[in-house]
Amino acid sequence: MALERTLSIVKPDGVARNLIGDVYNRFEKAGLRIVGARMLHLTTAQAESFYAVHSERGFFKDLVSYMCSGPVIAQVLEGEDAVAKHREVMGATDPKKAAPGTIRADLATSIEENVAHGSDSVENAAREIAFFFAETDLCSRTR
Ligand code: UDP
Ligand code: MG
Repeated sequence: MALERTLSIVKPDGVARNLIGDVYNRFEKAGLRIVGARMLHLTTAQAESFYAVHSERGFFKDLVSYMCSGPVIAQVLEGEDAVAKHREVMGATDPKKAAPGTIRADLATSIEENVAHGSDSVENAAREIAFFFAETDLCSRTR
C-alpha cells in the first residue's frame, strides 16, 4: 500500500444537480481525504487540453461541450492506494456497467453525463493535479 494523491472532478451535471455533498460523503466514507478543492468553469481550451488523450475519439467534441456546460469542482484526494480506491468508489464509465453502490451506478444519467472524473494512474494523477493546483494550494492533513 502506498500513500497516493489523485485528481477528482465533480462534473457539470453533478454540480448542477447539487450532488457535491453526496459525492464528497462517499470519498470521506471510503477513507479518502480532500486536501485541496476549487470551483471553476472550464473554457473550451482547458477542457480540450485536459482530455487531449481522447481527441481522436468520436465523443470528444460532445465531451468538451459537456465539460464546459457549467461549473465543476476539482479536488485532490489523498489516501492509501487513492488512485484505485477512487476509481472503485466512482464505478465504471458507463453507469449501466457500474457496480451497485458506486457514484456512477447511483447518480449518473448516461455514459457521458456520469457525474465524476478520476485519474486512472499515479502518473496521470500527477499531471492532472498540476493542471488545476499548485503544490501550495494543497494542504496535507496534520490531524
Ligand atoms: N465518454 C463518453 N462516451 C464514451 C466514453 C466516454 O461520452 O463512449 C465521456 C465520459 O464523460 C467519460 C469521459 O468521456 O467519463 C472520459 O472517458 P474515459 O474513457 O477516460 O472514462 P473515465 O476515465 O472517465 O471512466
Ligand atoms: Mg479516463
